[in-house]
Amino acid sequence: MRDTDRALVQAASAVAKLRCRSAAHTLATAARTADGRVISAVNVVHVAGGACPETIAVGTAATQGVGELETIVTVGDRGRSIVTPCAACRQLLTDRYPALRVIVGNPEDPKVLPVTDLTPPTPH
Ligand SMILES: [Zn+2]
Repeated sequence: MRDTDRALVQAASAVAKLRCRSAAHTLATAARTADGRVISAVNVVHVAGGACPETIAVGTAATQGVGELETIVTVGDRGRSIVTPCAACRQLLTDRYPALRVIVGNPEDPKVLPVTDLTPPTPH
């Protein structure tokens, strides 16, 4: 874990605390771009189908003209821990950013793994 990785976890946690205050938004992602910017996103929960925060972060990156994400982390609302990307997001992230680093694990001792090395994820 680099200092910038810890800062990314803090950024995602801050977004979760500020913006995930209803059942409509329960997860927050922060992603660092290759040039050091941080993109954040929350998920969308809806009966008609929602979207994971990682997916929305990919769209936000594209919207902002960002070509490469370097590191990503997702955290849950209400102080929940770091969340591993779901299978669909893992596939999306691997396809879009094969060199992406993903922060996973216990918040007190998080680890950084290549997106291609993620173990089967926890559903969310
Ligand atoms: Zn997902």
